Amino acid sequence: MQVLTRVEEVTQRVIDVKRSGNRIAVVPTMGALHEGHLSLVDRAAGLADFVIATIFVNPTQFTPTEDLSKYPRTLEGDLEQLRQRKVDLAFVPGDNEIYPRGFSTFVDPPEIARSLEGTSRPTHFRGVTTVVLKLLNIARADVAVFGQKDFQQAAVIRRMVKDLNVPCQIIVAPIARDPDGLAMSSRNRYLSPDDRNKALAIRRSLLKARVSILNSPGQPSAKISQLLRDELTAAGIQEIDYAVAVDPESLEPQSVVTTPVAILIAVRVGTTRLIDNELIEANE
Ligand code: AMP
Repeated sequence: MQVLTRVEEVTQRVIDVKRSGNRIAVVPTMGALHEGHLSLVDRAAGLADFVIATIFVNPTQFTPTEDLSKYPRTLEGDLEQLRQRKVDLAFVPGDNEIYPRGFSTFVDPPEIARSLEGTSRPTHFRGVTTVVLKLLNIARADVAVFGQKDFQQAAVIRRMVKDLNVPCQIIVAPIARDPDGLAMSSRNRYLSPDDRNKALAIRRSLLKARVSILNSPGQPSAKISQLLRDELTAAGIQEIDYAVAVDPESLEPQSVVTTPVAILIAVRVGTTRLIDNELIEANE
């Protein structure tokens, strides 16, 4: 596996790869890798001839209240994990490489970026769309793999790629979970054992909502939100940013729940913000 830090070096490499007729897949990450990230890499390897994983803690997607400097950084371990998988190139740029002096062009994110995470974290998606478009361009990616874990992010990127005619296929891979059901996240390391126990209510509430939706179709969405909130608060989770049933594409709240539906949750457990979701397809 090659490790490159400069855009120019990556450009040279991908031009050669393309010239040989190979398809390129990219998996953008912020590092602190876990099996969730690695499952995306594995998926990418099945979709293309050449796999690029990027590790870049993107400053522009952190809101002013979030502590960028506290984001976990475990570069050596990350590269070691990527070497064990079918990754051809790890791109690990510094901030100045992505945002050199004079950088001032941003992607204005689509409408669906305004609600949910957009409410809790204004300017977040502007940073995400900008860096993702840059990474897709740098990698000359034919396909890019994202995780369903960040449901709204995947929807925003799909919309951006469609709206801006970006010639890259977007694949969304399932949520990888620990055996206890908690969605894997770089932030889970900040949970105390007690926090972690509380956090298990997130998955529990999603599964309860799933059963309820499938057993009693046509319920008011407010009832599902209440079910989620009851389960979360019973476990001691007080800070709930949202717990809602939305249309999976438009992300508009449903008044009456009909499939397909995405149930999205964001909460704070201790000092750690956690998100999770459950998608129920039509005709399940
Ligand atoms: P991050 O490093 O948190 O920016 O995540 C990089 C990519 O990994 C994003 O596409 C995430 O959606 C994805 N990802 C993060 N956690 C998981 C998980 N538990 N399962 C699947 N994909 C994940």
